[in-house]
Amino acid sequence: MAKTTNRCSFCGRENKDVELLIAGIDGYICDSCIIQAQAILNEELAIKASKKFNNFNLLKPKEIKNYLDQYVIGQDHAKKVISVAVYNHYKRINYVYKRTKNKEDIEIEKSNILLVGETGTGKTLLARTIANLLNVPFCIADATVLTEAGYVGEDVESVLVRLLQVADYNVAAAEKGIVFIDEIDKIARKSDNPSITRDVSGEGVQQALLKLLEGSIVSVPPQGGRKHPEQRMIQINTQNILFICGGAFDGIEKKIASRLATNIIGYGSTKNKDNIDKDNLIQYVTPQDIKSFGMIPEIVGRLPVITYLEPLNRDALRKILTEPKNAITKQYIKLFEMDKIQLEFTDDMLDFVVDKAIEFKLGARGLRSIIEAIMTDPMFELPSKEGVNKVVINRQYAEEKLNKANIARLKVA
Ligand code: ADP
Repeated sequence: MAKTTNRCSFCGRENKDVELLIAGIDGYICDSCIIQAQAILNEELAIKASKKFNNFNLLKPKEIKNYLDQYVIGQDHAKKVISVAVYNHYKRINYVYKRTKNKEDIEIEKSNILLVGETGTGKTLLARTIANLLNVPFCIADATVLTEAGYVGEDVESVLVRLLQVADYNVAAAEKGIVFIDEIDKIARKSDNPSITRDVSGEGVQQALLKLLEGSIVSVPPQGGRKHPEQRMIQINTQNILFICGGAFDGIEKKIASRLATNIIGYGSTKNKDNIDKDNLIQYVTPQDIKSFGMIPEIVGRLPVITYLEPLNRDALRKILTEPKNAITKQYIKLFEMDKIQLEFTDDMLDFVVDKAIEFKLGARGLRSIIEAIMTDPMFELPSKEGVNKVVINRQYAEEKLNKANIARLKVA
């Protein structure tokens, strides 16, 4: 019996001339046409992504900061620095887009950012808030889980996998995204002396991260996980991805203090010892301090914008309770409102919550766990009580509930 001849409905080639012919309802498509169609699709998606991006209404640094002010208390310096960096990031990408069309020759380099500040001072909050404002893909990665390739843990490429997932696998969009790498200080070199054992979660990761930060083409396994030879890789160019790194850099104050002391004694020093605010040394942080903390010079060089977050004082903690657009107290009031109950916190109760957060060194993160402990009973009981339409939580009630809750337990939270 003669073999039937089928043809590709796109290029007309017969099945004997192609590797594979896939049948549809009314026709066929060959392997080469599939590959060509895929290329066209990628190109169209990239153009769509660029258009979406270029339609973006470029917010001015002041407008970006105003937005941040609605959600983050204090931290003016960090807000300013981030607003400018993000604004420049946008301008730069628009420029790169035009430049490729017009062949202009000045190249504007990107300025990745390093945020230094104690935990719970708002580093992640700043990054998240920026993400909500922008329409570029954004993801948060934790540096502590990263290890050098081949060791237990995640490869640095996993950071880009997350970005790609957020961008719905649109490579062109991901290539303009922003990545926040948290706890970057945890990959500091473990000791100043190069040891015999390899530092796979410290210097090894820094070396691997460098490749991402400096802008290169990185092969990424789209489904995440380790690279398997059989897995198809996606190439991502990190040249236009903005990296914001954050870390507490515990103990860096000592390095800053000793540097400042040497500078003061040193010939030609301009800083007067009396002008130094010894209670908040973090504000004087420089790339040199980050290096002496254990970050390799190449990484420090790729994070040219360094800013700091101040420790939160009583006043800031008190404001965090009520002022941000999605402040903790506003969230509880909303929850009760859904049950048609008007909830009110008295001022002395809120002061008490702040006192406890300071006393037990819980910081801003502890504010929520303290209020949660106070509010558990009312949240449990009130929805089933008839006829209650207003609740006032005062200091006495808060003290009672918190004594029962055993505040020491909250420390873990
Ligand atoms: P970090 O990343 O610096 O460790 P986070 O940004 O995760 O700290 O802060 C933890 C929580 O504390 C936030 O979710 C937020 O509720 C609160 N918080 C911290 N700093 C601020 C701030 N400056 N303004 C408003 N809320 C803050």
